Amino acid sequence: MEKYDVVIIGGGIGGLTLALKLVQADVRVLVVEKAKQPGKIYKGELLQPKSLEIFKEMGIAYQIVEASFSLPTIHTYEMTEKKDGTLKEELYIPLHYNRLSSPFPEARMIPHEKLKELVIREAEKYPAFTYWNPATFQTFTVKDEWNKRFEKAKIAYDGEEVEVEAHFFVGAEGRSSLLRKAMNEHVITTQYNHQFLTVTFPRPKDFTQAKMYASHDSFIGLFPLPEDQVRSVMLIKPGQYKEMKKKGLHTFYKPFERFEPGLKGYPENIQSWKEIQLMIPIRHNIPNYVKGNAVIIGDAAHTVHPMAGEGMNLAIQDGAVLGELFVWMFKEGRLHPANLRKFEKVRKKRADRLSRLSHLSALAYSWPYKWVQRGRMFALKRLERHPVLHYKHMLNISGIGWWPYSALDGLRFLGPGQVFSRKRFEKKSEKMLFSNKNDYPWYFKNEERSQSKE
Ligand SMILES: Cc1cc2nc3c(=O)[nH]c(=O)nc-3n(C[C@H](O)[C@H](O)[C@H](O)COP(=O)(O)OP(=O)(O)OC[C@H]3O[C@@H](n4cnc5c(N)ncnc54)[C@H](O)[C@@H]3O)c2cc1C
Repeated sequence: MEKYDVVIIGGGIGGLTLALKLVQADVRVLVVEKAKQPGKIYKGELLQPKSLEIFKEMGIAYQIVEASFSLPTIHTYEMTEKKDGTLKEELYIPLHYNRLSSPFPEARMIPHEKLKELVIREAEKYPAFTYWNPATFQTFTVKDEWNKRFEKAKIAYDGEEVEVEAHFFVGAEGRSSLLRKAMNEHVITTQYNHQFLTVTFPRPKDFTQAKMYASHDSFIGLFPLPEDQVRSVMLIKPGQYKEMKKKGLHTFYKPFERFEPGLKGYPENIQSWKEIQLMIPIRHNIPNYVKGNAVIIGDAAHTVHPMAGEGMNLAIQDGAVLGELFVWMFKEGRLHPANLRKFEKVRKKRADRLSRLSHLSALAYSWPYKWVQRGRMFALKRLERHPVLHYKHMLNISGIGWWPYSALDGLRFLGPGQVFSRKRFEKKSEKMLFSNKNDYPWYFKNEERSQSKE
């Protein structure tokens, strides 16, 4: 029977990031991926600064930068409808990544499958990497039911049913994780009153900025990709997709051309509804990521609303932190499964906070009323104009740090924009960046103290 140090179920971006980290330290890994690669589903494509920093540490930043498109600013527009049906720009708010102190003060768009391909290509350079694809994880043998020690995984691979043993099993199989089910974890689910249509189509060469347009009852997002492509998202009501399909593809083209006339003619490159993906947002919260010698990461552990562009980044960041923990455990011979809790301690708090932030961003666009839009415009204006609020927002979505929101922020929202002490702000903002001690506390003494500081 084959035996590995770590078996990763699911070769999505979370599982692959973890695998690369491990094989670079000579930890023997099997990745089991059921879908033939490259996959055909649209998934996250926006890399936040922390994810870029992680890939830099892993030595593949150059390839990722080459294959991606830089977005230093997210441009948001609030529009109102005039009586004749045309749109008027009511408010323009740019949100700048260059406020951050990071080697990557930007977001970068990369096709999801391209990113996975780059990580796989790098991992294949290491002898500790084994990748079964297509191969489907089926069930576990559990040695000690009470303490949930998973012993063997049954995998359908190459027309056979194969059993593999491992010290540790990782569930990186996305939102319907089988390992999470085997762990008997309770899942709290939030559903939303809207859905999205998403697809990538060609763009004019000079359409190079990320733009989000909202009116009181519409929302579209446009995120340029390399090779003159743009990823689009359109918010719709449940049931609207069916109606649009009945009426014809012009119902899909029109909103893009209304909000962004420069794109006229480009959405028409989509010639079939089959190319357009319906995305039903969902939020999962799971109380524990660890049971016995098993651990879940990425969407298996926390599915978030896509509005803030965080899902893929949380999976990458989970992979990196868990990878570093496993490396330490194998190097130090500290293989007791209780050590896996150290991963949960670092990551759960951060994932929960970003899940909440994504949820709030979703709510801001969920109700088609003019008074909701007025409230959103007020909040966006303050967020951009107050340097502390602007910085906090960009820092918190970037993943490179976290600055908690406080009662004082309420006053900042209401008070004059420029009243703040630059010196105090600079000192404090520095402290809010995650250090190595925050990310990988097991390498440091007094680890408990460094975590409670966060
Ligand atoms: C349509 C869509 C759009 C999105 N847009 C964004 C965005 O703009 N920004 C963003 O940050 N995030 C976005 N997300 C979320 C983001 O894609 C996910 O959060 C991210 O892919 C999670 O990575 P993961 O590795 O945890 O899981 P996944 O990417 O879901 O990977 C899980 C893998 O496990 C495999 N698998 C499942 N079961 C088994 C099994 N039994 N055996 C073997 N393999 C198995 C699957 O085939 C899959 O490849 C989007 C998601 C979707 C679906």
